[in-house]
Amino acid sequence: MGPLKILLSLLLAFLTLARNLPAQSASPTLFAQSAVKILERDFPKTNASFLLLDASAGILLAHHWKDYEKPIPLGSLVKPFTALAYASAHNFKYPKLECKGKAGACWQDRPHGTLDLTSAISVSCNAYFRQLAQSVSAEQIAQVAHDFHIESPGENSESQTFAGLGDRWQISPLRMAQAYVELQRRKDHPGVSEILQGMRQSALRGTGISVGHHLTHTKALVKTGTAPCTHIPWAPADGFTLVLLPADAPEIVLLVREHSVTGAAAAELVGKLLRQMEQ
Ligand SMILES: [Zn+2]
Repeated sequence: MGPLKILLSLLLAFLTLARNLPAQSASPTLFAQSAVKILERDFPKTNASFLLLDASAGILLAHHWKDYEKPIPLGSLVKPFTALAYASAHNFKYPKLECKGKAGACWQDRPHGTLDLTSAISVSCNAYFRQLAQSVSAEQIAQVAHDFHIESPGENSESQTFAGLGDRWQISPLRMAQAYVELQRRKDHPGVSEILQGMRQSALRGTGISVGHHLTHTKALVKTGTAPCTHIPWAPADGFTLVLLPADAPEIVLLVREHSVTGAAAAELVGKLLRQMEQ
């Protein structure tokens, strides 16, 4: 049993536990049983939702997410698709753009400085994507959305919507997770490698660093997002973290939503979860 298969079975065990359902496997391994004990102890009540997919076929393996097909705002998880819309109209070349931090309406007060697309994905720079999105039309976004089977934000959307801000662009969480499966599947297509490289960098030193920090044996591809909360009771934001594991040949996609935190904070929960699994 390879480490990824063990990781997968442990994730399944945890998610089964999280749903309060009987274990699907008739005889879970001792390893899985001890992991369940760890998770029972360390994750008694998270404000989190999960979707776990097979990264080769995009099949939903397990979930703890009410209404996972209902479109909701997913924040910066849309950025790779806006990037592709830009690329398709600009000879598959991405620009370098400057982030002036708060002055450029970035989420980070301190300027990110001059970024290429890979770095902008890694740190999820709003200023970069606001500027990039100004050169993207609603039709180009709609085309990419169609290609990746995700909902389109609509004809009258503004560039800030394409940058993943606000609540206008609503996408089914399951479709979004499957869109990342498709993105990975197209890793050799023009414009895609820069995005996947950015997701790899995110886990090392970007908004997904909490995932990379907790993993000792496995490299991950990560994208985080922060979006207006859709829960009752309401919170200022929900954090999203999408992880493809392992980075070189992904076998699983894990999408996590945590209530009332940022995407970077949700990555901390995911990192801790994955570390428990790895051990
Ligand atoms: Zn920035």
